[in-house]
Amino acid sequence: MTDTITAVATGAALSAIGIIRISGGEAIAVADKIFRPVCGIRLCDAENRRMYYGELTGADGGLIDICLCTISRGPDSYTGENTAEFHCHGSPVVLSEVLRALFSHGVRQALAGEFTKRAFLNGRMDLTQAEAVIDLIESETAYAAQNAAGQLRGVVTDKLAPVYSSLLDVIAHFHVVIDYPDEDVDEFEMQSHLSALIGAEEELRRLLSTHERGMVLRDGIPTAIIGRPNTGKSSLLNALLGYDRAIVTHLPGTTRDTVEEKALIGGVTLRLIDTAGLRKAGDVVESLGIERTRAAIRGAGLVILVLDGSEVLCDEDYDVLRSIPPGLPCIAAVNKYDLPPVQSEDELSNLGLEYCRVSALTGEGLDNLDAMIRKMFPESGTPPTGELITNARQAEAISRAADSVGYAIAAIGASVTPDAILTDIESALTAIGELTGKTMREDVVTRIFERFCVGK
Ligand code: GDP
Repeated sequence: MTDTITAVATGAALSAIGIIRISGGEAIAVADKIFRPVCGIRLCDAENRRMYYGELTGADGGLIDICLCTISRGPDSYTGENTAEFHCHGSPVVLSEVLRALFSHGVRQALAGEFTKRAFLNGRMDLTQAEAVIDLIESETAYAAQNAAGQLRGVVTDKLAPVYSSLLDVIAHFHVVIDYPDEDVDEFEMQSHLSALIGAEEELRRLLSTHERGMVLRDGIPTAIIGRPNTGKSSLLNALLGYDRAIVTHLPGTTRDTVEEKALIGGVTLRLIDTAGLRKAGDVVESLGIERTRAAIRGAGLVILVLDGSEVLCDEDYDVLRSIPPGLPCIAAVNKYDLPPVQSEDELSNLGLEYCRVSALTGEGLDNLDAMIRKMFPESGTPPTGELITNARQAEAISRAADSVGYAIAAIGASVTPDAILTDIESALTAIGELTGKTMREDVVTRIFERFCVGK
């Protein structure tokens, strides 16, 4: 039996309600020691998943809170173990007193993600669902939340199950052929294996093709804010974020490193990257910054080119403009609109970019920038239901599985011996097993759950 763990599940901030979770063999017995339902029943005899109102007493026997408690007996619980939850008043002091009371009865503080890790180890969910839990908690837009909720329901698992099963069928047959060499695979069977493998590869590649959209959904559109020094890139980043994130000074070349922040602009999440000014390197540190700028542009899905609207456009501005690859979505933010504008509308139109006049200082025009981004990246009509792969680990495993199936198909085409084909299909099964957690090394599992917050 595993030990019994506890944690506050609702964060450290003051709130109306704070929830404390307990999981493990002794969860209900320990909860029973510190909580008395007013109806007179003992928690040990209480019904599963029913809320009981009662008094919670501390390690010294004093009253801590009058609150609610619910229990679930394993295996029908989140973790698959006995669990109890106290729904207390959300004072950090109350919650820490409850934890103290539980510790005094031998319960230990849970590690990050330990409840969900136990749910996974006890077969209550697979690894894609466990990862969906953290994605759901961390989701920044309604669509990202919907996609994560779909994955928690098991959408990825459901899509992989038939692929896994069809590969198992093929492998089972080839094993017979190897073990009983007289059993030849007849041409008809070979064709049916081939079409099963082709179908499996197609499904895996289709899943993989959702990854790019999934990453944008989860992490936002990588947006490079570029421009020559002192046009106001850092100021614009701060204005968009609404607080001071980058250091703003009047000295050119201050932003030597890139700064990354997320902002919800125009209904889409932008991963804003403030870059060092693109210009001839003054020193080594600065040239590193310039290299990062180029890298930021290379990986960008959107570029915001910041121009100084109070100064005549110079060669440096045009150099920066030329560094933007054709086809990459780009908006020119003509900054410092609070100062007398220098460029005419004609001159700005001739840049060949959509542009808007803004002032990072006063916030003027930022709503226009917002509207332009909204127009450029309209939210697609149908919200995702879990079919978008948002996780690099999962994408890598799917890619490996698809490649292995591809090799098996090629091997059949080249009439390679069955054992070589088997090796490829087994690799594909292992990759899918890693995805769902069926075949996964313990240290990797531990690493995955370390991403979680305590209490989840
Ligand atoms: P960066 O080098 O492009 O990141 O430029 P900064 O954001 O560091 O700004 C350079 C200078 O321009 C600073 O002195 C800012 O206060 C000033 N600045 C930035 N935006 C505006 C603006 O909208 N209006 C005015 N008047 N000054 C601005």
